[in-house]
Amino acid sequence: TAPLLQVEDLRVEFKTRRGKALVLNGVDFQIRGGETLCVVGESGCGKSMTALALLRLIPSPPGRISGGRVLFQGEDLVQADEARMHKVRGNRISMIFQEPMTSLNPVFKVGDQIGESLRLHAGLDAAAARARTIEMLQQVGIPAPERRVDEYPHQLSGGMRQRVMIAMALACRPDILIADEPTTALDVTVQAQIFDLLRDLQREKGTAILLITHDMGAVAEMADRVMVMYAGRVIEQGTTEQVLSHPGHPYTQGLIDCLPELGSSLQHERAELAEIRGVVPSIWELGSGCAFRERCPHAMARCAEQVPPMFATGEHGALATGDGTHRAACWLHAQDQMVAA
Ligand code: SF4
Ligand code: MG
Repeated sequence: TAPLLQVEDLRVEFKTRRGKALVLNGVDFQIRGGETLCVVGESGCGKSMTALALLRLIPSPPGRISGGRVLFQGEDLVQADEARMHKVRGNRISMIFQEPMTSLNPVFKVGDQIGESLRLHAGLDAAAARARTIEMLQQVGIPAPERRVDEYPHQLSGGMRQRVMIAMALACRPDILIADEPTTALDVTVQAQIFDLLRDLQREKGTAILLITHDMGAVAEMADRVMVMYAGRVIEQGTTEQVLSHPGHPYTQGLIDCLPELGSSLQHERAELAEIRGVVPSIWELGSGCAFRERCPHAMARCAEQVPPMFATGEHGALATGDGTHRAACWLHAQDQMVAA
């Protein structure tokens, strides 16, 4: 079946006083209906930028999409006009952020904020929107929704606000939910509840989820497939099992090594990508070659000369082509088959 979303060679550049900076440098991936794709990497690797670019929310100027395609059910959103994007956002593809207080309007009741989206996108009248809002609040596990619907954001806890955001994002039954670090601001118990909720809603509604996280524990728990980003590129992709059990890129290996126990205790532990030696290079320091080479324990002469293309990691997976192929952009796999992105 055709992917729901197919991103091809997506590029985003920012104009700065030092010149043009390519913050997304040829990003390729697909999402199929109903699956969860996790995007991982340290901050500054382009995860959030990718999400914003999909929805055409890059602040412009100074940023702009400078190349590539975002095919949503076959339609290229890069070429869509603003009226069309307005319909897509919140309706077909919706997004939740890390800190719901910045996305909820403090001066409106939470029910009115969800209701407005239902009136705008689903064409419901005020009474129907209110009824549906109460139903949504109930579904995301907010107790006494008939009362909460008339409260203001500051009257809710952080976990409740994030549930409201999820209710709002799912109100119009989007095909894709983009969740950018949705639980980072929450304590671990609430985090686990939010993940349970997302999984339940996904099972019920068939929503595809693009989950952006720096937390490998969340990946192990939530992802069907994983893509790892570094310095504005996708450097590894595969199923969760492939990527976590047989990482093909030294960066991914580093992320996994930062996790003391990738296993049963994850659910209750906030495991973060902590200590890979060195830092993500700024886009000004990339130069030629592999962007990870200064931090890589396996760097070779070739790594300084040429950017590694994507290779199918032959050892562990089938060499079948398609988005199921486990692939990594690293010269260590140079003897393996090169794959298109
Ligand atoms: Fe390390 Fe070279 Fe692979 Fe880059 S291409 S990750 S520097 S071995
Ligand atoms: Mg981010």
